[in-house]
Amino acid sequence: MPLLQPSFRGRLRLFFAVIVIVPIIAVGVVLFQLLGGTDNFRLDSGLTKAQVGARNAYAQDRRDAMAAMTPILRDVPLATAIDGKDNEEIQRRLNELARANRARAVLTVNGVDTFATPGTDEAIAAASAEFQDTSGKTLGRVTVSTTDADAYANDIARQLEVGVRVERDGGVLASTIPRATNTRIPNERGAEVEVGGTDYRTTAFTATEPNDSQVTVRLLGEVTPPDRSTTAIFIGVLIGFLALAFVFAVIVSRTLSSEVQRLLYAAQRLGRGDFSVQVPTEGNDEFAALGREFNKMAAELERRLEELRRERGRLQDAIRRVGESFARGLDRVGVLEIVVQTAVDGVGGDCGRATMRRRADAPMEEVATTGDPGLYHRVLHAAEAAVMDAGEAAEISLGGTSALAAPLSATEGGDRVLAIVSVARGDRNFSHAERELFSYLTSQAAVSVENVDLHETVQRQAVTDELTGLFNHRRFQEVMDAEVERARRYDQEMGLIMLDIDNFKRVNDTYGHMQGDEVLRAVARVLRKEAREIDEPARYGGEEMAVALPQTDLAGAFNFAERVRKRIEELELPLLDGDGVLKVTASFGAASLVSSPQSDKEGLVAAADAALYRAKRSGKNRTVKAE
Ligand code: GH3
Ligand code: MG
Ligand code: MG
Repeated sequence: MPLLQPSFRGRLRLFFAVIVIVPIIAVGVVLFQLLGGTDNFRLDSGLTKAQVGARNAYAQDRRDAMAAMTPILRDVPLATAIDGKDNEEIQRRLNELARANRARAVLTVNGVDTFATPGTDEAIAAASAEFQDTSGKTLGRVTVSTTDADAYANDIARQLEVGVRVERDGGVLASTIPRATNTRIPNERGAEVEVGGTDYRTTAFTATEPNDSQVTVRLLGEVTPPDRSTTAIFIGVLIGFLALAFVFAVIVSRTLSSEVQRLLYAAQRLGRGDFSVQVPTEGNDEFAALGREFNKMAAELERRLEELRRERGRLQDAIRRVGESFARGLDRVGVLEIVVQTAVDGVGGDCGRATMRRRADAPMEEVATTGDPGLYHRVLHAAEAAVMDAGEAAEISLGGTSALAAPLSATEGGDRVLAIVSVARGDRNFSHAERELFSYLTSQAAVSVENVDLHETVQRQAVTDELTGLFNHRRFQEVMDAEVERARRYDQEMGLIMLDIDNFKRVNDTYGHMQGDEVLRAVARVLRKEAREIDEPARYGGEEMAVALPQTDLAGAFNFAERVRKRIEELELPLLDGDGVLKVTASFGAASLVSSPQSDKEGLVAAADAALYRAKRSGKNRTVKAE
């Protein structure tokens, strides 16, 4: 792992180091400094006291010097010796006096001759006064001292337990610390000097001697290094704290990272698709919350995956069914049944239905259902109405129920919807995916329904005569086969009429072929109008037509033919050029199965045909019964 990207645990420890260990060390250092500081303070106040003592001693020495000076000043023999200018006597008497007063003395006569007792060079704390004779005449000046630098320094050092160095005008006179004799000591109060490996703090005072020399007394207090055992305890406690903090950091980081590890492990298993793994969620901390969220997420993922699996199954089912419906070549209603079932299954609806018009001008009627659409009629109806209005798919939610509806086909160029598929459910709205699936299914179904339409058209075209809309010759033959067969099976009568338009060639010749076509259409309309539901009019060929009449005997066939003939006779066909009307007639032959000499299809057709022929021969515009 790169140094700059430590693990979670590493970062936690770093964090601990920063917020615990560093401050502890800082506090330690500061405390240590303070400890040293108090030592110095104590030392300095000790030195200050010592200085007071040393000054007092110096003043006392000076008072002693005054006391010792008095007998010298009053000494008559000394005055006499000075008066007599007896230098030998002066020196002898001065020595005598000094010894007697345990002092050192310097006598200056007339500012010229100087007499001194031994040891005056080191003498300090001196007192001085004018030497006068009895008449008050000044003979000279006497300076007396009872101590010297060495004695003074040793006394102070002993009494006050400090190092003492005495200087005069910068030159060292005495030092109780031998090695300090040649050390430069700064003047500032509290200055520190090092002498032979030992540190001292110093203080000093200066006194002016009668001869104007400056005596400086320096006191040196030894800086004692901090007590070793105290330092050891202090460092021990510090290390103890650090160790404690470290242990604490390790424990906390272990716990935290083990929680994270557990989540990581669970996430890895989840990633592999194992949803059984649960992370512990005891407690109230963020990890427990994270764990609960994690478990929730796992459950949700599992649910979603299961939902996806189910949806895929439903889709596969739907695709299979749609495919089957193609393969089966169902009729329109059959396709709609499958579409409704598939749509309900596919989107998880509670129910669904398909409504359609049988003809373009017929009302919508329900043709296929799944579930119980009655329960959701209101919302289904609203969705279907929206589709009718807009001509496109719609979704409606009403009082906790939802419905999807889509049109399957619309009349060409118009807005009249021919079929609608709708689904509904009660518990929740449809999802985006469900809407998409529904839209896909209905668009597929629309193709399916279109195929059915196409198929029907082709089939119709195969059996229909294009000009008249009647059955064509081939279909007429099939109908005849089926009807004759049925009549025989049920032992029923069956009639047939055949007709041929009279002088049709002349119509074509006079008014044109288009006009002839109009005549054919008009005659066909009459046939369709007069025929019953079960009768089946057909164009036999050219301007010849035939009508198979199930369950009709010869008389019935004759009557039907006559009725049709009269209707044709009554027709007044407007001429295409708009100028006047055209009248036509037709001749009919009527026959029936039972009355035919040969009771089969061919016999029946032949009988009718023969009758028609006779009708033509006997003057046209009439019906002739088969013999
Ligand atoms: P008859 O009274 O003897 O039946 O005389 P006809 O002129 O009707 O008989 P014919 O068989 O001589 O003439 C039939 C004519 O019908 C010939 C043909 O051109 C015409 N025809 C056949 N099919 C059609 C068609 O689809 N449209 C038109 N306009 N004429 C057709
Ligand atoms: Mg004809
Ligand atoms: Mg003809």
